[in-house]
Amino acid sequence: MRGVLRIINPYDPGIIPEGQVVNLSSNENPYEPSESVKRAFFDSIAKINRYPDASYSKLKKTISDFLGVEIEKISVGCGSSELISRVCDVVVEELDTVAVPMPSYSLYLIYAMLREANIVTPVFRDYKVEAEIFEELKPKLSIICSPNNPTGNKVKRKVVEKIVENSEFVLIDEAYVEFSDEHFLQFALEFDNVVVLRTFSKFFGLAGLRIGYAISSRELTEAIEKIRLPFAISGVAVEAAISAIKSFDYYADLRKRIVEERERMAKELMKLGLKVYPSYANFLLVKIDERAFDFLLGKGIMVRKIENVLGLEGTHLRLTVGRKEENDALIEALRSYLCESSAD
Ligand SMILES: *Cc1c(COP(=O)(O)O)cnc(C)c1O
Repeated sequence: MRGVLRIINPYDPGIIPEGQVVNLSSNENPYEPSESVKRAFFDSIAKINRYPDASYSKLKKTISDFLGVEIEKISVGCGSSELISRVCDVVVEELDTVAVPMPSYSLYLIYAMLREANIVTPVFRDYKVEAEIFEELKPKLSIICSPNNPTGNKVKRKVVEKIVENSEFVLIDEAYVEFSDEHFLQFALEFDNVVVLRTFSKFFGLAGLRIGYAISSRELTEAIEKIRLPFAISGVAVEAAISAIKSFDYYADLRKRIVEERERMAKELMKLGLKVYPSYANFLLVKIDERAFDFLLGKGIMVRKIENVLGLEGTHLRLTVGRKEENDALIEALRSYLCESSAD
């Protein structure tokens, strides 16, 4: 086995919910798919004896029309997770510098490590990324996440500009961008060295079907498409994804509810005296002591415990914004936790 595997820690998917729990741990969309997405899914089952279209041209055409981006600039993958890996494969040589500002998503480190990169993880308080370090590092690849997981904030446009100027390639992960008021798609259209990454897992609520896509220059897109797994997205997933884009209004309506709930929850949590990170995504990060997680679990509420992440000291909980009743249950449970622990 390759030596690098000894130092790679596996991606932590959190614990798997069992039985009746309120699941607010994985930033999924808490609502069911639209009726037409369900129909598209069921209607495509009859064809699962066949391989899907290897070029995914219908899916790409739908994304292309949706974004107003040329089809030649769109690549697809088995979740945006696959595309993170492919982008590393396409641009990173052994010992190249890969800059990954922290605290952010741990999957970036795994795929950069697999390429035996020289990984640099500059830490920014609350992921308030600044550009200076990139001027010094001149990274082969910089990977930023906006809105960021797990802090929920955006990277400043000026900072993105500077990072693009000072890196040979830049990957901008926009998994949560539909919940934000700002995106950086234009960078991928304007600059040949930028890849913007999107997913159907969050806003479009298809986490279980595994579909991601990237926007980049024709040249980068061609390279990514060349090496991605053939047939990595099932035909069933493709039909559901196409239908989801056509149901955009349905999902936009859910987004409105989610964003309103996010703001309501943030206020409630602050009233409890917690440090709440301002969020442009469908989750909130709060600082709390380490026993809170198990207390919530005991009440049947699953959230994500964030510990040992570079740049986040102590224990944090990442709380997915769920349905109103789920969010209420979470806030109530946290209220009783804080009452009980202050009585200790
Ligand atoms: C959820 C998430 C993704 C999406 O992963 P998929 O493989 O598309 O489900 C990508 N990046 C970040 C930071 C995420 O939190």
